[in-house]
This record gives sequence, structure tokens and C-alpha cells, in this order.
Amino acid sequence: MATDTISLHPVFPYRSLKEKQALIKTGKLCIDSNVSEFFKRIQAFEHINAFNATFPFQGSNSQIGLLSGACIAIKDVLSFKDTNLTCSSDILRNYAPPYTATSAQRLLNADAIILGATNCDEFAMGSSNETSASGIVLNPIDTSRVPGGSSGGSAAAVAASLCDAALGTDTGGSIRQPASYCGIYGLKPTYSRVSRYGLTAFASSFDSIGPMAKTTEDIALVLQAIAGFDPLDSTSSSLPVPEYAALLYDCDKKYRIGIPKEYFIDGIQGDIRKRIEEVIQLLKEQGHDIISISLPHTEFATAAYYILTTAEASSNLSRYDGVKYGIRVQKRGGINDMYSDTRESGFGNEVKRRIMLGTYILSAGYYDAYYRKAQKVRRLVQKDFLDAFAEVDLILTPTTPETAFRLGEKVQNPLSMYLSDIFTTPVNLGGFPAMSVPVGLDSNNMPIGLQLIANHFGETQLLQVSYLLENNIMKAL
Ligand code: GLN
Repeated sequence: MATDTISLHPVFPYRSLKEKQALIKTGKLCIDSNVSEFFKRIQAFEHINAFNATFPFQGSNSQIGLLSGACIAIKDVLSFKDTNLTCSSDILRNYAPPYTATSAQRLLNADAIILGATNCDEFAMGSSNETSASGIVLNPIDTSRVPGGSSGGSAAAVAASLCDAALGTDTGGSIRQPASYCGIYGLKPTYSRVSRYGLTAFASSFDSIGPMAKTTEDIALVLQAIAGFDPLDSTSSSLPVPEYAALLYDCDKKYRIGIPKEYFIDGIQGDIRKRIEEVIQLLKEQGHDIISISLPHTEFATAAYYILTTAEASSNLSRYDGVKYGIRVQKRGGINDMYSDTRESGFGNEVKRRIMLGTYILSAGYYDAYYRKAQKVRRLVQKDFLDAFAEVDLILTPTTPETAFRLGEKVQNPLSMYLSDIFTTPVNLGGFPAMSVPVGLDSNNMPIGLQLIANHFGETQLLQVSYLLENNIMKAL
């Protein structure tokens, strides 16, 4: 495929939602015409394939809510009443939920406009958006490369200015890795911080919903709108939601920042390592405490992640049986044949691979050897982080070992695809919040992401340090 570069800036006369809201308030920007501009732009960039569908305009309310005027896209694993929810899978191509996900409803309650549903890897399983039944998504910065996954459509839509912000989901890195590949900000909240009601389950004890946007301020605003207890999700936390957007600016605070040696391994791309080290150096010069730490069980995290998430997925995806949801295919006689005909033709290869792996892991005789053992590893990985947070406020790592790779490069080799998650999956095993912050470009002009990890419910600190990096450190580089 030919490489072409899309001109990404400047598109709109504002850089952030805050600036946009100021323009709306003073009558310099009209929400309705801004929404139509977005729809035109989505059409003009159809070849990026970031959207699975656009939604009818819900109307606008310019002066009231936290997100008034914000045009937001949601990943196509989140329910939006009476519109097609496909999870980028053939098995759900005719399914429309009768209710809206709490996270999407909270965007609407804050007076945001939801533009549509973004493409993703099938059932959020993947790291490149290449497992989608709706086709691949192109990275808008270099269209010969992947946008990352699984929230690849959300990341590409934000990077190409097809929306102001987007919701993604992160089970093992699916917000942070595509954010990093597309040069934007992406925050995976603490597990339970955002209600999962209306989110299609992949691995229920890992799944988190979070914001992707072009500035830290915008991430804070969207997170504030969607976080908080929900009676419809009994796992959601009842801790009060901080005023993230107002707490960003505590720039004088000095942080203790942990640098785990296990994340600076040999295989990591040279210019990523160099850039991250430059940022660390600047943080040090500005008086932050840089502390070497160890997270000794890191090397087992990705294996444990793939054992536990495939086990949960094999159970969660048993509901797609041709009876309850989506399509039904019957090529042969009985009901068992109908189940397998439906699943055979409805699921793609990666999803089938994971269902088979997960079913095997949970089967009698293998449960103790794999599932139970991986649960123990999960606990040890979590404990590594908890021990580290007794000493440091935040942990800093690269988001990924390499920048966005070329389309097709890893499709035939699932193991090498899984390895692009080594720096993100450990965080999900422990349920911690983490964020990817863009910190520059590599020698091919592809974005480099820096990952910040905090203790449970430490989103405020993530946002404060991200803001510092965005508005202070990056300017000094
Ligand atoms: N790339 C990881 C996987 O394929 C993460 C997916 C996710 O976070 N949804 O499992």
C-alpha cells in the first residue's frame, strides 16, 4: 500500500475542549455547524476506516454541561440504544441493543454529542485493528502503518481530528497502545472507576473504559464525566470522583517517580529508549525524585494475561450462539449444528483462537496447571506494583517496545503481535490506572508514547504529571 501523509493541523480554530467551549460561549463557534464539519470530515477521511457507523445528531445544549459542545466518538463495543453494536464482528452485524452504556449516557448527560461508533479489533482482541470484520484502520500519520489496537478507530479518529475525543476500552493495553501509535493521550482508569454497564464483555475482571484525546485537559474532562458509581454495575466503585479537570494545574509539586529496570530491556527500539531517557533527565533537572525500582514478575505478566483473558473470553463469548444475539446460521440439522454453524461463520480467526485456548485452559485436568497458576502470577504482579507504590508516587515506562508497525507485518505471527503488549498488560493484571503521553517522534516520524502508572485511584496524579509533561517538559526538549 502506498504511503500518504494526511495534513492533520490546523483543522478547527481551537486546540482543546476548554478553548472550544470559550469560543461557543462568546458566540464565535456554533455547535451545529461544528458538528456538520465533523460529519463532512469523517466522510472525507472514509479511507482511514476509523468509523463503523455515524449516529444521528442528538441536538446540542451549549451552555450547561461539563462537555457542552464536545463531539465524541465511542468504540463499537459500547451500547448505544437502537443503533447497531457490532464489536467489529460478523456475528453481531444485525444486533441493536435496547439500552445505552452508562459511559455513553454520561457523555450525553454532560451535553456532549456522540458522533458515532469507531472501528476496533473484533471483540477488542488485537493490537493492530487488523482482526476487525469491518476492515483495517489506517494510521492517519502514515497510512501504510497500523493505528494500534484494539481501540484503533478511536485513536485514528482523534489523531485525524474526526472528533474532539473518543472512548476506548483497555483490557491489556487497548487504550494506551493505539494512543501511543497515533500520537495522542489515552487514559486507562483504575478497574471499577468507570461503569462497564453496556460494555460488551471481553475479560470482565480486566475491562476498563477510558478517554482518548489530544490534550491532558480534555482527558480530564471526559474522565470526570464518565467516572463514578453506577447501580447497574455492581463492580463499580463508590469512591467519590475528584474534580480531575480542576486539579490538573498543581505544577509545583515534586514527584517520586519509579523507573522499573524490567521495562528497559534489549529489544526496545533505540529512539524510544533515547527519548524516554531524555524526558527522565529533564524531570530530574526539575527536581523530581527519580528512583530505580524493580517489578520482578514482569516477565510472567503477558503469559498470565493471555491465559486469564482467554479463559474469561471463552466464557463471555459463549452467549453468541445464534439464539440470544446476532446472526443465526444453520447449514445442517440439529441445534448443536446450528450453534457451531453460527459460531464458525460469525467469528474471525483471532476470536476463535482465543475461545479455543480459553476453553482448553478451563477444562478439567488443565485448570490447575494453567488457570489457577496464572491467578497466582496475577497476584504476584499486582504485589510488585503495590510494593513499588510504597516508595514512589508514579511509575514511568515506555508505552510500547516499538512504534506503529506496518500493516500486515505481524498478522501471521500471533506471538509477535502479543509481545507488543508487554509493557501494558501488567497494569491490567493489577487493576491500576495508567496513561500514555505522546513525547515526540522516532526517526520515521512516528509518535513515541510514554506510560505513567499510578496506584489504585491515582488518576489525579497521572493527569498532573501528564499536564506537566505536555506543557513544560516537552517544550524544553
Ligand atoms: N492487545 C491486547 C489483546 O489483544 C489488548 C486488548 C485490549 O486491551 N482490549 O488482548
